Amino acid sequence: MLSTNTQLLRISQGQLNLLERCPRQFQHTYLENLNSPSDPEQEERQTLGSRFHLLMQQREMGLPIQSFLQADSQLQTWMSAFANAAPEILAPAADSQTFRESEHYRTLQVQNYLLTVVYDLLIADQQKAQILDWKTYPQPPHKSKLEKNWQTRLYLYVLAETSEYLPENISMTYWFVQSQGQPQNIKFNYNTTQHQRTANDLKELLNDLTHCLESYQQKQQFPQLPLGNKACNYCQFATRCDRTQATEQKSDGYGNPFGERHLLPDLASITEVSL
Ligand code: SF4
Repeated sequence: MLSTNTQLLRISQGQLNLLERCPRQFQHTYLENLNSPSDPEQEERQTLGSRFHLLMQQREMGLPIQSFLQADSQLQTWMSAFANAAPEILAPAADSQTFRESEHYRTLQVQNYLLTVVYDLLIADQQKAQILDWKTYPQPPHKSKLEKNWQTRLYLYVLAETSEYLPENISMTYWFVQSQGQPQNIKFNYNTTQHQRTANDLKELLNDLTHCLESYQQKQQFPQLPLGNKACNYCQFATRCDRTQATEQKSDGYGNPFGERHLLPDLASITEVSL
């Protein structure tokens, strides 16, 4: 629950991304659980992606995966393409000093928040630590976009903060197993400057969240995007936000984030933000 200041609120990379993109969307999604029913096609893609993650986890744990592969030609194709593209990742560590764990879970407390990360695979030896992440959507995003994403930033940050590794000895690699042709990867090497920047940005974003949550308890809604922002045209909350194209002309044009007051549910009745 979010009802007292002494309780920690768990925050994931997805929540940070949403909070940064649009605080009001964060409010509707995570505080009020107002998500629309998901699109069946998207659901199917997510299920297939989850199955690939499960397969990789089983494999890492040394459990048999043949029956999964035989039952699913898509998984079989992805796995064999990945094995060709990155045999060194699938190969068992010859060196017993190397630590490998799939679905590796870490948390870090910052202010009243518990930052939570789950690495698809963590490989660490005495010199360096590598975070690996599997993506099953077809088109890898541009590297600069991925670099700014809170998944990249938070995953690297939390490992540096919760281990002995210097930022310079930590990396994160995304593997896009469904890319056209061969699986592709995008790798980010971390450094102290980036680490400091992330620390500052995180502090600022969490301060904003604390401020918004306090205001929310006083019945004020989280800020909206400025009027006219194109993102509102594609947002499932456009009607609720009075941001449908037809209604924009009658707004004041300033997009004052705290201008509106609505009756809001009591915070004590809202479940804790989940991952
Ligand atoms: S309609 Fe615009 S302001 Fe409202 S939640 Fe969506 S993106 Fe945010």
